[in-house]
Amino acid sequence: MEVSSVKKLEQMEFSLDSVTDLSSSSVSSSSPAVATFSCVDGVTELRFMQSDSTHCFNFDLASAQLFKLGPVHFICVSDSSSSSEEKSFSQGVNIKFKTEKDSKAFCDSFEEWTKDAVVQGSSLQNGTVSAKKSKFDNKIEASSAKMYFHYYGQLLHQQNMLQDYVRTGTYYAAVMENRSDFAGRVVVDVGAGSGILSMFAAQAGAKHVYAVEASEMAEYARKLIAGNPLFAERITVIKGKVEDIELPEKADILISEPMGTLLVNERMLESYVIARDRFMSPKGKMFPTVGRIHMAPFSDEFLFIEMANKAMFWQQQNYYGVDLTPLYGSAHQGYFSQPVVDAFDPRVLVAPPMFHMIDFTQMKEEDFYEIDIPLKFTASMCTRLHGLACWFDVLFDGSTVQRWLTTAPGAPTTHWYQIRCVLSQPIYVMAGQEITGRLHLIAHSAQSYTIDLTLSAKMWGPGASQGGILQSSTCKFDLKEPYYRMSQPQAYPVAQEPPLQPQPELSTQDIQTQNDELEEELLQQPPQNPSTQL
Ligand code: SAH
Repeated sequence: MEVSSVKKLEQMEFSLDSVTDLSSSSVSSSSPAVATFSCVDGVTELRFMQSDSTHCFNFDLASAQLFKLGPVHFICVSDSSSSSEEKSFSQGVNIKFKTEKDSKAFCDSFEEWTKDAVVQGSSLQNGTVSAKKSKFDNKIEASSAKMYFHYYGQLLHQQNMLQDYVRTGTYYAAVMENRSDFAGRVVVDVGAGSGILSMFAAQAGAKHVYAVEASEMAEYARKLIAGNPLFAERITVIKGKVEDIELPEKADILISEPMGTLLVNERMLESYVIARDRFMSPKGKMFPTVGRIHMAPFSDEFLFIEMANKAMFWQQQNYYGVDLTPLYGSAHQGYFSQPVVDAFDPRVLVAPPMFHMIDFTQMKEEDFYEIDIPLKFTASMCTRLHGLACWFDVLFDGSTVQRWLTTAPGAPTTHWYQIRCVLSQPIYVMAGQEITGRLHLIAHSAQSYTIDLTLSAKMWGPGASQGGILQSSTCKFDLKEPYYRMSQPQAYPVAQEPPLQPQPELSTQDIQTQNDELEEELLQQPPQNPSTQL
């Protein structure tokens, strides 16, 4: 598309708390301002005008970028000013909004206006355009993306997923039991990898499947699909990111396996909902449809001691004549910032779990940037609590059968295992005591999340009855740096009696949809893992 064909948009204004020039060497005073998006002679522009009219900054939206520094704080930069004579220099301003609402509205508009300002590969009057970065490239570090797609470009890693029979078998069952959702329909396989889900969809009678894969695996998928002539003519492999590629038609159904540890790791769910908005027809279906993060506090003295012991190496005062203790604190903190990935015995859980639902059909891409989950549990026993255990499940909300894929402790193990955030400072709880807290996930540009976990419980004993002193423990984790603990022996004493009341058993692995009421109920009620005896 030529730049001249850029859609004419209305002028749009936003009031700002302040704007300051980044390039000014002197500390310029910040003052209230107005930001105006406008389109003049086919050039879309963003102008910041200080209310006292002392300064005005013009940005050509073809090269402008916005960086969010805080809820209401941004930096806006561009290759050059759109109107000033200083064309050869970049320019930038520091901007602040009064409210988060204003900041969100501005962000949305910025995205809308920049989208229309430059189209990839288009050419400007004054030369060739440096192709605008895609939505994916804008938020993800190039080095992270390179490693990520290199990983998925290798057959051994695709094989690892294919050999997770709980995962692949559940996808196969969910598709084949819901043939009516696929038969004669257009399907998009979001992140197709080896193309396995595309071939499931083709087996279920899909009219056409677009298998979109960004890594080199796309070439292998082509080869594999070509070798399966029954499906080959109904599958088109498209190499590229779902954020960038175009499709010739809208899809009736999206199929994808975008889940990482803790459901959200790898940030591929964002690509899944971007694909929804770009390719799915309004009444389309998503396989999977919803996901849930399940959480429960746990007690595991073995694990805690194991982690604390790792840091003990740095307690040595004479390591070949060197005192290692100056780094003990950092090492200890380092170990306790790693979420532990392994399959644990569900008996380590010390309270019935709760869950946080994520509806893939409704979530906006930005909703994944920050996920804030208030926590509330009731302790089932008197114990030392070491942290929060998490797992997830996803639902294939088919027209015929609703099927859950679960990664719960006690259920058949998947390649996701489960994840535990271990607190460096355990807290003590009594049976029946309320445990509160917060799990705060903040997305980062290395395709993962920083996790802030706080768990609190009132102290018991003298003093507690007179108001209660709160014990609170907080830790920060990087979901990108997990501690894989699969090879460790799991020695858990067999409890004489189940420590908790068994939860009502509800198997949701294979439920025929009988009526809408049941469907409603299923979405509201957590399926307790049948083998998780609490
Ligand atoms: N669907 C396959 C592979 C799942 S792994 C299966 O179920 O076995 C996820 C795949 O999505 C990886 O191969 C990865 O390269 C791809 N992927 C991740 N983000 C993507 C994006 N934004 N666009 C296209 N492919 C993506």
